[in-house]
Amino acid sequence: MLRLSRRAFASALPLGLIGGSLAGTGLIGAAPALAAAPVAPVSVTPLAQIRIGRFTVTALTDGYADMPYDYFPGRAPADVEKAAVAESTARPSGVRFLFNQYLVEDGERRILIDAGPAGSIGQTGALPQALAAAGLQRDQIDAVIVTHMHQDHMGGLITGGQNNFPNAEVYVDRRDVAHWTDPAKRAGAPDYLQTSFQMAGDLVRLYPKLQAIDGEREIVRGVSIVDLTGHTPGHIGVRIEDAGRSLIMVSDMIFPVVHPGATDVFFLFEQDRAAAKAMRDRFFPSAAAEGALIAATHMPFPGLGRIVADRGQMRWQVADWALQD
Ligand SMILES: [Zn+2]
Repeated sequence: MLRLSRRAFASALPLGLIGGSLAGTGLIGAAPALAAAPVAPVSVTPLAQIRIGRFTVTALTDGYADMPYDYFPGRAPADVEKAAVAESTARPSGVRFLFNQYLVEDGERRILIDAGPAGSIGQTGALPQALAAAGLQRDQIDAVIVTHMHQDHMGGLITGGQNNFPNAEVYVDRRDVAHWTDPAKRAGAPDYLQTSFQMAGDLVRLYPKLQAIDGEREIVRGVSIVDLTGHTPGHIGVRIEDAGRSLIMVSDMIFPVVHPGATDVFFLFEQDRAAAKAMRDRFFPSAAAEGALIAATHMPFPGLGRIVADRGQMRWQVADWALQD
């Protein structure tokens, strides 16, 4: 039985209906007394939970940032903006990327997938608050799987120059550890990747027991690593599977606006575009054929959906919480 919880339903309500901040805007609260009330900033931590067999998976978010329209090689910036306008997600400063993380619990272990940029990009740094909203502190996390060593996926582990998850085993693919801790690779990399190289060094230093993963393997029963090399050399996904249900967290396999409709459009941070294209050429059709439920870091919160083939054209279909049983 797979279903979103009531908490997910609450998170789907317009923020103003929870926080009351729309009072005075004319959208709600026609009463004069409400109209005179000061407008408070919205401060709601969204959570969404689904069940995958015996697992509870909670979508959390560290925040968001807008990626300029010229960060998508393979398409003219004007075309990316046009596509964003067509789906009503255009922002003046670019395509809005969420930074979603996923907490996987089986009643014994708490496994976090990724740790967010932690304030190093955009409006981020909310993961500790999101965990607190779920009743958890960072020292209660047993394991963190880092899908790849870009700053927006590992920053939360090392922000402040500290080990922020002192009781967690940390898992990263060995190919990414090798790449992002290689001084020669760092010397040849563009400025916008330097923060990721620096953070990778911090991560290895602050987590001396870091486990480098070699290939596909199970972390605990029902939680396994999927090889999705392409976006980075050791880019991985995580499959959660039990009782005939499954969810694949695919990290940066799919970006909003430009995917999955095309595979020849990239994100600036992808250094090996041929590998990134091969990854998506392989994964999009197989995910569509499988009807796989997907969790994706940068898709609109909670980042849950499916890739569907619509008369040969791939498109993203949001997984509706009411249609999960
Ligand atoms: Zn990312």
